[in-house]
Amino acid sequence: MNCPTSDKLEKWFDGIVEETEYESIQLHIETCNHCKQLIKMYSNEHHFLKETLSTPTLPDDFAANVLDQLRRRKHGNVFWFRLQLLFWQRD
Ligand SMILES: [Zn+2]
Repeated sequence: MNCPTSDKLEKWFDGIVEETEYESIQLHIETCNHCKQLIKMYSNEHHFLKETLSTPTLPDDFAANVLDQLRRRKHGNVFWFRLQLLFWQRD
């Protein structure tokens, strides 16, 4: 599979692509270092991740925030994918 355009990746990151497209892009990112780097870049710019990275322990309202994120997102698993990025960033 060819790399999605950066515009497409951004849309994927924001969870606003079609579900079939979403899955193929996610599969691609998991196997493509180039796209992984781009997504890392987007996540670095993302306020929520910055906050989480700078918080030594999870805040009390973390679970509530998670549920809130899941409710807001068309594709809830974008959030979990972002959590995985946290671990990549610690390498
Ligand atoms: Zn790629």
